[in-house]
Amino acid sequence: MPRLLGLLALILMPACSSTSLGTGNPSTRGPRTAVPSLNLGSITAPVERHGVGELEQLARIDLPAAKLRQAYILYTQRETQKSITTLNRILFGAERQGPAVESYAYYLRSLAFARQKKTDRAKADRASAAKLAIDKDLKAKLGLLAANSTPKLASNKAGLGTAGRLEIYPRRAWSPRKPIPSRLEPMSRIYRVTVHHTGMFAQGNSSQESKALISKIQRQHQLERNWGDIGYHFMIDPAGRIWSSRSLRYQGAHAGNSQKNRGNVGVCLMGNFVGQDPSAAQIRSLERFLRVLCLEYKISAENIKNHNDFMDTKCPGPKLEAHVSQIRRRLSAIATH
Ligand SMILES: [Zn+2]
Repeated sequence: MPRLLGLLALILMPACSSTSLGTGNPSTRGPRTAVPSLNLGSITAPVERHGVGELEQLARIDLPAAKLRQAYILYTQRETQKSITTLNRILFGAERQGPAVESYAYYLRSLAFARQKKTDRAKADRASAAKLAIDKDLKAKLGLLAANSTPKLASNKAGLGTAGRLEIYPRRAWSPRKPIPSRLEPMSRIYRVTVHHTGMFAQGNSSQESKALISKIQRQHQLERNWGDIGYHFMIDPAGRIWSSRSLRYQGAHAGNSQKNRGNVGVCLMGNFVGQDPSAAQIRSLERFLRVLCLEYKISAENIKNHNDFMDTKCPGPKLEAHVSQIRRRLSAIATH
């Protein structure tokens, strides 16, 4: 009886609480269920008795990790086409999944396509998985970890993909303090982005100055405001460099409150755009970056917001807002489905 209740609780749990970010640990929610965790080890764990029994259990559980595990078992049973169909339902079903779920789905589908000798499709799926991967094991599988050891300008960090060959300085480039996970919420499905300014008159153009400023803001946010990390996900300096500041794995702290921060990417430009104009390089980077974000996360142009859309503030300043309006108009031409 307790076992049944545990299973029922899992089925009734809203799917969104477990999508994409691997925060759930099903083993704590009920005794001995077959629910896999959202990580590569669990999804591709050895299949016992050819999956007999496990597949039936999984079919009753409406969670992304369970569906991914199903697809993997089907693959091991050489039910390749069925495996692909299951993965297509995850990738293109009515419910949008987060990047972690999609990264596993693309990876598993690449295995199936490779077996079917559809090498182009397998390659494309591996590239999609690589773009979205968060899990270290999956990154290792995809051969992404070796490239990470060189501490220089890196592109395609933060799961943003190759669109526009955007270059983003990784978080480690500014030697951050550690995030404090107990104060952080996992990011939910991303569907909007909010533009900010630091409100501080811009410094010089060197990357040293930018790193120092990001570190300073992180210290303020962690030590004075008691936040888990710097509030913004990305910062753009006067030279147009884009810096990853808070991991997209975590919801930001920038728009006003938890509700306003839901699914909301925080992008902050360095400067005070009440009193000064953003640099041309900054605006160019902002537009390229917003374009990539919109494409990557299917954000519609009207969901590109200014901070003052959420609360009474001067942020991000009228001199920047004018550019945001123009960018929004240009990006509204992009089909985001
Ligand atoms: Zn702001």
